[in-house]
Amino acid sequence: RDVADLDAHVSVCRACPRLVAWRESVATTGRRASFADQPYWGRPGPGFGDARPQVLVVGLAPAANGTNRTGRLFTGDRSGDWIYAALHRAGYASQPESWAAGDGLTLTGIRIVSAVRCAPPANRPTPDERRTCGQWLDREITFVAPGLRSMLALGSIGWDAALAAARRLGWTVPRPKPRFGHGVETELRTPEGRPVRLLGSYHVSQQNTFTGKLTEEMLDAVIARL
Ligand code: SF4
Repeated sequence: RDVADLDAHVSVCRACPRLVAWRESVATTGRRASFADQPYWGRPGPGFGDARPQVLVVGLAPAANGTNRTGRLFTGDRSGDWIYAALHRAGYASQPESWAAGDGLTLTGIRIVSAVRCAPPANRPTPDERRTCGQWLDREITFVAPGLRSMLALGSIGWDAALAAARRLGWTVPRPKPRFGHGVETELRTPEGRPVRLLGSYHVSQQNTFTGKLTEEMLDAVIARL
């Protein structure tokens, strides 16, 4: 019926045996020592943010000790520190930090989802897992499409997931397939002919932010174009 209903269904999904086993093993016997006394969510990460957004952010997948612990996307890990600080600077987020599901953070005009909704080992979902979880992205996009102006893909997996979902939903996607890159932009069209822009950004993972491959200025510049 709506994204709240979708969230409820996503959060009990068990379609990918390898990911179900991983998310639950991390949540029980595999907790990081510093979080050993905390309850873990251990389930898929549902979408978070505005139910009628103008912008949809498509990330990669939950972190094993981040979303898989807190139950909210980009919450309780370093990637979240980056994306929510940037969204706060741009006026989309009510606060710059996101440490727990009940911390009061709200998003206005923007919604965050991930291409794969269960934490994958080594942050690497298989092609089959990406395809299987695409069904949830299709439904999410269907619900938010009427007000959607643009999408922001964080990393190449988010980029490919957004393009694949658009194709499955009958949107017009440029050919040849637009290549992912930081700051790259392409225009998609809904079946009604309405344009929706897709922008790419390097993912906010520590691999990129610690090495300087992605700076705050680079991320802010892409978000300003949304
Ligand atoms: Fe379900 Fe997606 Fe998790 Fe697979 S990755 S079990 S499709 S929520």
